This record gives sequence, C-alpha cells and structure tokens, in this order.
Amino acid sequence: MAFQCQRDCYMQEFVTSVVACSPAELKQEINGKKEIIKGFNVKLQDTILFPEGGGQPDDHGLIGDVPVLRVTRNGAEAVHFVGSVLEVGREVQLKVDWERRFDHMQQHSGQHLITALADSMFGYKTTSWELGRQRSTIELDTPSLKPAQVEALEAAVNEKIRANIPVTVQLLSLDDPALEKVRSRGLPDDPAGPIRIIDIEGVDANMCCGTHVSNLSHLQVIKLLGTEKGKKNKTNLIFLVGFRVLKYVERSYSIERSLVSLLKTGPDDHVDAVDKIQKTVKALQKCNLNLLRDMAVLVAQNFKLNPERGNFFAFHKKEGDNEFMSIIANEIATEETLVFLTVGEEKGPGLFLLAGPSQKVVELGPRVLEMLEGKGAGKNGRFQGKVNSMARRGEVEALLLEHCRSEP
Ligand SMILES: [Zn+2]
Repeated sequence: MAFQCQRDCYMQEFVTSVVACSPAELKQEINGKKEIIKGFNVKLQDTILFPEGGGQPDDHGLIGDVPVLRVTRNGAEAVHFVGSVLEVGREVQLKVDWERRFDHMQQHSGQHLITALADSMFGYKTTSWELGRQRSTIELDTPSLKPAQVEALEAAVNEKIRANIPVTVQLLSLDDPALEKVRSRGLPDDPAGPIRIIDIEGVDANMCCGTHVSNLSHLQVIKLLGTEKGKKNKTNLIFLVGFRVLKYVERSYSIERSLVSLLKTGPDDHVDAVDKIQKTVKALQKCNLNLLRDMAVLVAQNFKLNPERGNFFAFHKKEGDNEFMSIIANEIATEETLVFLTVGEEKGPGLFLLAGPSQKVVELGPRVLEMLEGKGAGKNGRFQGKVNSMARRGEVEALLLEHCRSEP
C-alpha cells in the first residue's frame, strides 16, 4: 500500500476520482495568529500529493482548480483539505505544486546522503532532522563537529552527487530477510503495508516514506553552512541542497552589492568597515554625551548670570535627555525659581521636567501634563514625564510665566 507519489515521485499531474468529501476545519497559524478555516476533507482513489511524514512537509497543489491547503495521513489514507465541496465519484485532475515538492525531494534525499556519510566517515548517527522553510538541519549524536570534518563531509557528499548514483525504492514485506541489512534509523511513519526502502546504490539503504530524487545528480549540489550547538551533547548541522543553494547565493550577492555601495569598499573589507563605523559611532556618542552635559551647565550658568532674570526659566532643546534636564535643574536654585524644561520634537513627542518651589510644582504639574498630552508624576519639587505632543509648549510657557508674575 503506497500512494502514487511514492511509486512515482516525478509525476506532476494525475487523474483520479473523489471517494469521500466531508465538512472539516483547518487550524492554521498565519503570522503568529491562529485561524480556523472552514472547508472539506477529501479522500481520493489515489494521490500524488504527499501527506507529511518522515520529516518531510506535505505537498500543496490543486484538485481540478480547487487549491489543496493541507494533506495529512489518516491510517493508510491521505486526507486533502480544500476550501470548496467536491462531488463524490467525480473524476478529477490532480496537480502538485512542483517547485515546493521538488525542493522537498532535494532536501530530503540530501539529508539521507549526508546522514549516511556522517555515519560511515565519522560514526556520527543522525538522531533527528528538520526540513525548514529556509534551511534544514540534521541533529548528529556528537558533542561537536570540527570545521575540517564539515569540510571533508561536504566534499564527500558532493563527490557522490557528481558520481551520478541512482536512487531506487524497494518495497519489502515485513518478513523479508533482506530487511536485516537495512540500517534502521527509527521506524518509518508508513503505518501499513510493506516496508519502503530508499536505496542510494552502494551508499545507503534506509526505511522512509518520503518522496526522493531518482538519481543523486538531481540534488545538483549540497552546501553545509555550519554547525550549531544542539540539545544535550548533540550538534545540529545546517545544510542547503540544490535550488536552495542558488537562491542563497543570489540573496547573498544582492546583499553584498548593497553593502558595496553603502560602505564604498569591496566585499573583503566589509567586516573591517562595519567594525570601524561601530567604533566611531561609540566614540561620537560618548563625545555627544559629554558635550550635552557641558551645555546643560552652561545653559544654567547663563541664566544665573543674567541680572534681569526673574523667577521663571524655560528652555527647549530638540536633542537631549532626562539627564540633560536634570543637570540644568540642579544648577539653578529651584527653591525660588520655577524651571520648565523640554526635550524632543518641536510638535511631536518628548520629555519634560518642571522643577521649583514644591507648592507651585504640585499645583502646576498636572496642568502641564494635560496640555502636553503626557504621562508623569512628581515629588520633592520635581514633576516629570513623557509627552505625546509638544504643540502647546508655548502655551504652557505663557501660563507658567503668568503664574510666576502673579504670585512671585
Ligand atoms: Zn527519509
């Protein structure tokens, strides 16, 4: 018992008939949001749409012109989830999303090959693998894999690809003595029927329910990107097969070209250039902070030296922070002077600090907050917070000035 997609993994279109169709729901997660789609579960006489299994995701495709959103396995049957009802008994044309499927075949057969050679070359067993959207990983039962080993493994798998080795599928009954020669890496997901063996001639024979290429040359190329620390004492080997390598190179080249024009240097100097920029930015930030502090002191001194100063001081600066305002307030004797300081966009969001005689600050703080659409709190003669809009800053200043004039 096997699906047509397992007998002929290269079949892209297939005529079959609808055996059953019943209302169903599909739970999906789109951009982290859980969604329930109403539709129908369809069973067919046979299918070329692979239901997920053996680490391989399910196929997408069409039944007639109805898109298949999900294919799952229910015992020995494949269940196709579709959005609209299909008539039972009707003959239908199946079409597989070949780009997605062939990508899965390349990654999956590539995994078998890497797994086999990691075992024969180093004795590292594969404990699990994952076919990811961007890149795939093989979990190897070893605490580490040296860069030289990764290099040797990559060279070896690509040599096998160049050797044009056929990949065949054998179906063995459960009592076939030949089964004993097959290395078992976990039982197949195939729930019923004969055992399916994927045989890479002279390299590997492995039980698997997935769809595979018919010759290693169809893998084109394998790139081992590197390793990551895995679960306890295991190592994850990251790999790309076939078209994914081409796509990866295309993306890398496009990023490289953007960096050449941004950094005005060739690719070999990109790391040095970014490192230099980061160091420069850090130094400038430090310098900027010192200048801001010095300026805060000067702003306060300038006010104090003015013989005509009153009992109110207001100051706004676009670039600044809480520390900047705090230094100014500290420098000015706020027991007798009301100080209103703001930093931020002219009409946009920002920060404010109101400091002065306790009584005045307690009384005026909430009004400032209201006029600037802000959030904040105060104690000990200081009221400060974040505001949404500085648009009425001038009005606030006039109000405070008025207040200071009326009760000096
Ligand atoms: Zn497999």
